[in-house]
Amino acid sequence: MAQPTDAEQFLTETSSFSFACNDALPCFTQCCKDVNIYLTPYDVLRLRQALQTGSSEFLSKYTRSFLSKGTNIPVVQLAMDTDTLRCPFVTQDGCQVYDDRPWACRMFPIDLAGTGDQYRLIAGKERCKGLFDHSKKMTVKDWLQSQGVLEYAEMDREFQSVVPARFKPGAPMNEGLGRVLFIAYDLDRFAELLKDSRFASFNDVDEEMLALANKDMKELLKLAFGYIRARMDELYRII
Ligand code: SF4
Ligand code: SF4
Repeated sequence: MAQPTDAEQFLTETSSFSFACNDALPCFTQCCKDVNIYLTPYDVLRLRQALQTGSSEFLSKYTRSFLSKGTNIPVVQLAMDTDTLRCPFVTQDGCQVYDDRPWACRMFPIDLAGTGDQYRLIAGKERCKGLFDHSKKMTVKDWLQSQGVLEYAEMDREFQSVVPARFKPGAPMNEGLGRVLFIAYDLDRFAELLKDSRFASFNDVDEEMLALANKDMKELLKLAFGYIRARMDELYRII
């Protein structure tokens, strides 16, 4: 009977795997080419801060973003170079935005497998030579912690919670709701809304929350989540 490949085996947080990446490997930066990297709102925030650019400019320059056909759920994907198929941030020395690289890049060569505590290796040894390095063995949990994944997971949990509980995952969403959800990616638009003097009273936001959001982009994103949650609840009642 055929044995499952590395990439097909499920892992949990306590599973161990061997992996070490370095620039001497023949596959160095090959994993940054021709890949589907879906961005979360927090990914967009970190990347645009690293690049010191606005959210709208970042989205139009570096991503393909659209409302998914059928469900209207926003999809934001890192746009690979159309000629080389390489990520716009990869150089011969590695990732140009390493400290702020997206969640998916931090997890690589691991990915989530369904819901709960299940993971899988998304790259096999034939592609990711770092998996041959048995000098460095670690648990999935230690790997995720060392890559700063937990902060990303926590922000994404907050984002997922903006959708009303009665919405079934994968079910079609009204286009208007999809557009409201997209504000989480395009925080410049949300910041414009905050400038309206009526915003605070209409949205139950106090001075302290506003001051915090104006000082710290992560707080601004959390405030946007709250705004989106309230709008979605409201629209769900009408639609
Ligand atoms: S394929 Fe694996 S070992 Fe090679 S550069 Fe990418 S992460 Fe590192
Ligand atoms: S963001 Fe960095 S790590 Fe991720 S694909 Fe691009 S260059 Fe590679």
